[in-house]
Amino acid sequence: MIEIGEAQRKVLEEIPVLGRERVYIVEALGRVLAQDVAAKRDVPFGENSAMDGYCCRHEDLAGVNATHPAKLKIIGDSPAGKPFRGTVGPGEAVRIMTGGLIPSGADTVIMVEDTQTEGDHVLCLRDPGSGAHIRLHGEDVKAGEIVLSVGDIIRPPEVGMLATLGHAYVHVYQRPIVAILSTGDELVDLDEPFTDGKVVCSNSYSLAAQVLECGAIPLSLGIVSDDEADQRARISDGMRADVIITSGGVSVGKYDLVKDALSKLGMRVKFWKVAMKPGKPLVFGTIGNKPVFGLPGNPASAMISFEQFVRPALLKMMGHVSLFRPLIEATLAEDLGITSDRLHLVRCKLFERDGNMMAVSTGTQSSGALRSMVLADGLMILHPEEAPFSAGHRVRVQVLHTNSPLSPQSPYN
Ligand code: AMP
Ligand code: MG
Repeated sequence: MIEIGEAQRKVLEEIPVLGRERVYIVEALGRVLAQDVAAKRDVPFGENSAMDGYCCRHEDLAGVNATHPAKLKIIGDSPAGKPFRGTVGPGEAVRIMTGGLIPSGADTVIMVEDTQTEGDHVLCLRDPGSGAHIRLHGEDVKAGEIVLSVGDIIRPPEVGMLATLGHAYVHVYQRPIVAILSTGDELVDLDEPFTDGKVVCSNSYSLAAQVLECGAIPLSLGIVSDDEADQRARISDGMRADVIITSGGVSVGKYDLVKDALSKLGMRVKFWKVAMKPGKPLVFGTIGNKPVFGLPGNPASAMISFEQFVRPALLKMMGHVSLFRPLIEATLAEDLGITSDRLHLVRCKLFERDGNMMAVSTGTQSSGALRSMVLADGLMILHPEEAPFSAGHRVRVQVLHTNSPLSPQSPYN
């Protein structure tokens, strides 16, 4: 039996980073940049106004106030996109809108709220200060600067920046296709009759959702019975994928034949059985250079081992640099009657009490129980040597989703 940390290292050692592909920038959301992006020109290009108002020479505004306003002649307009082509001379102003280019001669913008119009003149009631409300040429980005780099995750701001820099397409790392096969004589799919002794195959669906959640592409290979030859045939079909995941049939029962099937297909086993609970029977290896994960069949075990091994692997393939879920510290809100000789990953709920993050188990931790998985915000990582786990104990929690437990309330209400 291998320790979980070593097992995770062995997995990541075997995982290649995929090649790149060119995609439309909006489709690149959530993907990882496979190129550096340099600015071809300064942004903003030219000086423009940050306000609706008037632009003029600051020397005309020095020392003015409401009782001694400056009276300037309005000689034209500079709306955004339609620059005023003339020059602003002494005693003159040009009406300007946000984003409008600053005409030559002008060096300051006074906002409309600090002015009054009088026919074709404007009264300036305040000195906004020299250079006020002007966005300088290149103040956001300078030509030649590397603005986005290989490894950056594309979020909405990156999409906006790519567009600002004039890119409609961008190179990102490819997404792996992940074949998923469920094994077990007892399994029925959603379109099959449910009879005595049968179990609905939920793993094909939960695993596909986990694959999608990390940004990879699931390919369902359906359900196969506990028959080694059938399993081998079906896994062969899946070899066009980049990664193979099986569920079930990797334990020590008489009908646990997936390891045999994989061996006959030439799998080099890197490890079998991990010192973790749930998830112990996991097998990992490679066929050629294709990673193969034989996950246990129990629904919670399958999902929790996916989280620890498959998710970081898929993220690495897609060029991610950060491969792991956020870890937080929390205080146990109850005594956990847990004893285990293996690292225990306990499904838990997180909540705040008096400004402290608290964790409480979500109920039965049976490796078959999906309910406690549904209720879980995260997994407490409990090392056996730290037992007993009593109320008040500080625990580390791997957070499985980031919205509700950490920000239950709007920051404004
Ligand atoms: P196994 O790992 O094959 O020994 O299966 C362990 C337990 O998980 C058994 O109770 C199976 O019925 C259940 N199981 C296996 N595969 C699936 C699946 N695809 N969906 C739901 N439950 C499963
Ligand atoms: Mg089975």
